[in-house]
Amino acid sequence: MYTVIALAYLVSACLFILGLKRLQSPVTARRGNQMAALGMLVAVIATLFLYEILTPVEMIAATVVGGGIGAVLARRVEMTSMPELVAVFNGFGGLASALVASAEVARYFSETPAAAEAVTGGAPPLAPLTLTLAVTVAASVLIGTVTFSGSFVAFAKLKGLVSGQPAQFLGMRALTVLLLLGVAAAIGLILYGAYVFAEDSAFLMGGLLGLGGLALILGIFLVIPIGGADMPVVVALLNSYSGLAAAATGFVLDNIVLIISGTLVGVSGLMLTRIMCDAMNRSLWNVLLGGFGGADDDDGPDVEGTTGGTVRETSPADTAILLTYAEQVVIIPGYGMAVAQAQHQVHELAEVLEARGVTVKYGIHPVAGRMPGHMNVLLAEANVSYDQLYEMDEINPEFPNTDVSLVIGANDVVNPAARTKKGSPIYGMPILDADASDTVVVLKRSLRPGYSGVENDLFYNDNTRMLFGDAKESVGELTTEVKALG
Ligand code: NDP
Repeated sequence: MYTVIALAYLVSACLFILGLKRLQSPVTARRGNQMAALGMLVAVIATLFLYEILTPVEMIAATVVGGGIGAVLARRVEMTSMPELVAVFNGFGGLASALVASAEVARYFSETPAAAEAVTGGAPPLAPLTLTLAVTVAASVLIGTVTFSGSFVAFAKLKGLVSGQPAQFLGMRALTVLLLLGVAAAIGLILYGAYVFAEDSAFLMGGLLGLGGLALILGIFLVIPIGGADMPVVVALLNSYSGLAAAATGFVLDNIVLIISGTLVGVSGLMLTRIMCDAMNRSLWNVLLGGFGGADDDDGPDVEGTTGGTVRETSPADTAILLTYAEQVVIIPGYGMAVAQAQHQVHELAEVLEARGVTVKYGIHPVAGRMPGHMNVLLAEANVSYDQLYEMDEINPEFPNTDVSLVIGANDVVNPAARTKKGSPIYGMPILDADASDTVVVLKRSLRPGYSGVENDLFYNDNTRMLFGDAKESVGELTTEVKALG
């Protein structure tokens, strides 16, 4: 039996690694996701057989109910709400790791080996209570519980249930330091309990309860001061934490597949956090200290800018003429395209232009939107061909030969202040050089800044035209006008 389980674990670990590898490209990502999901199914079933916790009928029922809830959630959730969903998954993952690790310690004290065998039907014996085990249990409870409460604060901020503004109150830093001291004391109690009073559960369980309670508050304190717009980075970091908590629980249970999957999640989450910070030219420290980009995006249009320059407004009819006479058009999608859900209209416009012999390319900035790959996913949903999507480094040399850059709901990712304005919060962030094209047409509702809160000088350039309005409506009108040109 154990050999079959070990083989199943090996298969699922291979599926996780191959799945992750396939996530590197949009072409293979879907298959990668399916492989990783299959790997998880194999791992769950193998574990249920190993511990003989459920009867086969119960296993099927649980898989159908759990899988059904997951399928409904995945189908219903809007693309722009994906970070919220991931935050909830991370939170429950962290909580599960903390609870399972604690339950293993409780089992140690509450059951004799014979009783344990009766309950688990011959599951692997309990590991001896060593200092190493106590350290891993403490790590799992600390990281798992911080992940749980932190993820739910992130969820509430993203969902708008609590203010997206960075929240700080007097004495918060001092309280956080006190909490950290409390956490250190609770860990000390756990280690002391494991080392000195291995026969008596009071110290260890008391320490674990204390650690769980403090970690719950710590998670809230760590995330609440961070601005709502930085939440996707925080969610990526919490994702990494949930993986580390799972890996620690894997050590507690001596379960190899949990160690492997937890480590993969931990490391990939950390790499993703790093990539997001680099693409925004921010340090992780700067994100964690909060105070950047907490502004809500939905206050309604406001056509007044604050830089005092004049902008040149255009109409769908004029833009349509510009587009039809162009040889090459580069579409630059951003967060506004996601908000307006304009991807299908954008694809239709591109097709109409291509039918007239215009070359259409899409320039994709790595942090356009509000999550990594946001634009790729939306455009793939609208069946835009992958080979029309160009990453920043590929498309930037093409702008000087581009007749029209159509900026659709993007702002920060085309803001020249990133190149020129030292001291600007986005200075140094690599951007799409749309301003180098002959004409830039920007589709947005107002002159309001984007996520970073920084004014965009591009709107005031001589070669820029502003087409104000909701992206979906504006693109729809553009398509109608292009078609009307015959
Ligand atoms: P921005 O946030 O800079 O700008 C989006 C623009 O979309 C706004 O200025 C808004 O202008 C416009 N908009 C909103 N709704 C609509 C609508 N219905 N129709 C038309 N326009 C609309 O987006 P970018 O994609 O350019 O940049 C992404 C930003 O998010 C970067 O600063 C990045 O660092 C940050 N970020 C990205 C993450 C990621 O992983 N992708 C994660 C965390 C942060 P108006 O109100 O005038 O319409």
